[in-house]
Amino acid sequence: MIVRSSWRIGSIAGVDIAVHPSWLVIFVLFAYAATVSVKAIAADSDFPLSTRNDVILGLIAALVLFACVVAHELAHALVARRLGIPIGNITLFLFGGVASILREPGTPADEIKMAAAGPLASIVLAALFGGIAWLTANSSVQWIPTLCLFLGVANAVLAVFNLLPAFPSDGGRILRATIWALVKSQARATGIASAVSASVAGLLVVAGATMAFHRMWNGIWLVFIALFLLQAAIASGRQARVGLSLERMRVGECMARTLIPIAHDAPLTAFVSAISNDKRTGYPVVADGAFVGLVNPRDTGSVPPMLWPQTPVSAIMTPAARLPALRGEQPASDALALLAKSGARSLPVFEDGDLVGVVSEEIIFAALRERTAAPERAVSAA
Ligand SMILES: [Zn+2]
Repeated sequence: MIVRSSWRIGSIAGVDIAVHPSWLVIFVLFAYAATVSVKAIAADSDFPLSTRNDVILGLIAALVLFACVVAHELAHALVARRLGIPIGNITLFLFGGVASILREPGTPADEIKMAAAGPLASIVLAALFGGIAWLTANSSVQWIPTLCLFLGVANAVLAVFNLLPAFPSDGGRILRATIWALVKSQARATGIASAVSASVAGLLVVAGATMAFHRMWNGIWLVFIALFLLQAAIASGRQARVGLSLERMRVGECMARTLIPIAHDAPLTAFVSAISNDKRTGYPVVADGAFVGLVNPRDTGSVPPMLWPQTPVSAIMTPAARLPALRGEQPASDALALLAKSGARSLPVFEDGDLVGVVSEEIIFAALRERTAAPERAVSAA
């Protein structure tokens, strides 16, 4: 999830920590909830706290709890970095924290390690605070066990909620990775995990509503969290369907087959007029009949128009050596991955050493749209 327009508040182990404005809302609610909890815990003890101390302790509890949320996200981020997966920052927002991991893990094992790290950190913190609360239970400084008991329980709740099998939560990711290892397709596993997640979220909505109906007001929280999970599960299910279509569609089925070859020494003015009525994104550049690179109309932007008559196409093309080659039978998802990795706007497709087509992101998504729209058209024609 990308959370924009947030404030950077610092950095730990080279990972930036940011706060989204919506976090302030949840912080106030949490500080209030912590104050109430701390007061209830203290009332049960032999040393009840004064009201002012309740509020101070509630604020401290909320701040330490958010530090625990950061520790949870940091555990995800550091494991990801160790696995060679690039990481962005950690952002605190309305629903807690999120570590932006810039690439999906490549194997089920990596995904399980990365997803389990966060809840594991929360369980360790729960045990730590629980242990301190237990050890200091009889101390005369009564606010220490009160605060630690609250933090221990809160971290345990954090671990349990994150382990719910509701993709893209941590538990949902562990579930997806397990299915992925079994069915050998990440997209199919995401689809199945999303369906399970939507069911779990649906059950939680019912459970929360039932609790609220019986005047257990915590049920309202549960309904809110479950609705958020439901929406996330539906979104990732949709994303999985696109991913699956991309795995099933072959490069050969969507590539541009009719090619307009451009001579390597042709000036840019000739190139621009040759393609004036064409909307393609990639044109093969040839020298003595051999493929030497690809040129995109947008590449002309790097040269001022007054210099176009004396600039050859070869000066702005992407040379063949820098373009990973594709084969027609490869899945379209491979083409997208290679396009992203190489930074090229289009890639050549070869069959038996001959250039047979050119593929680009625009071409792939246009083919995908056409495919998903096809059944509807068939229905309206009937
Ligand atoms: Zn997590």
